[in-house]
Amino acid sequence: MKVRFWGVRGSYPVPGPSTNRYGGNTSCVEVQPSTGEIIIFDAGTGIRKLGQRLAAGRCAQPSCTVSILFSHMHWDHVQGLPFFSPLHQPQNRIRIYSSAHGDAHLRRIFEQTAAQPYFPIGFSDFKSTVEFVNLKENAEFDIGAVHVRTSPLNHPFAATAYRCDGPLGSVMYASDTAPFCDMLLGDEFIPAPPGPEDLTDQDRQRLATMQKSLVALATGVDLLVYDTHFTMDEYRANPHFGHSAPEHATEIALKAGAKGLCLFHHAPNHDDDDMDRIVDQARKLGQGRLRITAAREGELVDTKTGRATDDKEER
Ligand SMILES: [Zn+2]
Ligand SMILES: [Zn+2]
Repeated sequence: MKVRFWGVRGSYPVPGPSTNRYGGNTSCVEVQPSTGEIIIFDAGTGIRKLGQRLAAGRCAQPSCTVSILFSHMHWDHVQGLPFFSPLHQPQNRIRIYSSAHGDAHLRRIFEQTAAQPYFPIGFSDFKSTVEFVNLKENAEFDIGAVHVRTSPLNHPFAATAYRCDGPLGSVMYASDTAPFCDMLLGDEFIPAPPGPEDLTDQDRQRLATMQKSLVALATGVDLLVYDTHFTMDEYRANPHFGHSAPEHATEIALKAGAKGLCLFHHAPNHDDDDMDRIVDQARKLGQGRLRITAAREGELVDTKTGRATDDKEER
């Protein structure tokens, strides 16, 4: 199983000379199982180029199914979707997987992302067949020969982690999440860091359960792609933003016995030189037991070996 990173950035796109090496597009990761299913995590701006490639290749065939697994609805994970070329080809079936919140219907949520006055055409104008799969917490399902399982994450308005197991490897995508120690982020945005007294026993219990579920999901995975938006200092200043530092990601990866950890959802203010420093420091956290890399836009990574091929044409 391989993965290709089409967008590695959190919050908003920052293409330009200072982010050329790691990439400036927002979250989008393509899973390439050996069995050929087309599976994509999130639809940030990185999905535009992936869409062009699919539209000219696999999706140009008579019938093609694309499965897009959404972590959550924040802009940096959905803003590329209307520009995904296979959506505009009649022969394609696009299956959108996501956890809807409350009783809001999934189709209605996504329709709002492409509607007037924000976008000239709506979902009903897309030529492909679009289907929505509303996922419950800790869902389990198959996409062809790939087994998919989910776990909830600690993020404002919640997010979902996915693990895909194929015949030749496994990958888990955990973006976006805060650690499971300081605060529980629910269906509201908390405007300031809380004091320790704000965490009730019930919150602690919920966080412990969430962490246990996430570690169980990551057990023995070949490649864990994890939100490391912050450095530890940045996290301490803004724990309520709902993101982690490499220290938090490494703790989960080591607990789970993951074979590789890939830093992901890079902060827009971290330029290439900052990223080099962050990865160098993070590697020391692996204690020789964990392969630690950082996601780079355009790279194709073998989940088993962690070996990456940089494909400049994909930038
Ligand atoms: Zn994000
Ligand atoms: Zn988010």
